[in-house]
Amino acid sequence: MNISLPMLLLIVIAVFIAGLIIALLMRRSGGSSVDHGAHVARKHGLERSPEWPRVEHEHRKREPACAACGYKGKHIQVHHVKPFHLHPHLELDPNNLITLCCARGRDHHLLLGHLDSWHSYNEHVRADAKHFHHKSAAQIRADIHWQKKMALRP
Ligand SMILES: [Zn+2]
Ligand SMILES: [Zn+2]
Repeated sequence: MNISLPMLLLIVIAVFIAGLIIALLMRRSGGSSVDHGAHVARKHGLERSPEWPRVEHEHRKREPACAACGYKGKHIQVHHVKPFHLHPHLELDPNNLITLCCARGRDHHLLLGHLDSWHSYNEHVRADAKHFHHKSAAQIRADIHWQKKMALRP
């Protein structure tokens, strides 16, 4: 095979640009986890406030770990105690926020914040984060009090 120098340079540049595009795309799709609150709110015709990223960031600095287990990794989410689609005026209220994890085998955001349905919520999530301290997802699901709450969830 006989490739000229300009052709070789062109190939190198093309490969470099392709790599850059792939890296950008992966960053956009991966990175932070899904915003379930925004998804539910959108169904109710509401969009996140442009102020939300700042408020979320400030809350993460104040409360970096899951309230139920102390987990601090990348599977951390900021949860609204009173859901944003029912109480839009509390979206940016720091007192309405609590840090919960979506770590595998714990799922404290889904199980304690939303009683196993992103469309539901748990107004007593603060007390429950203490009550179910360090419990795994399986232990929470097996708990009779949690099951009763889940059956009566809003
Ligand atoms: Zn939530
Ligand atoms: Zn947790």
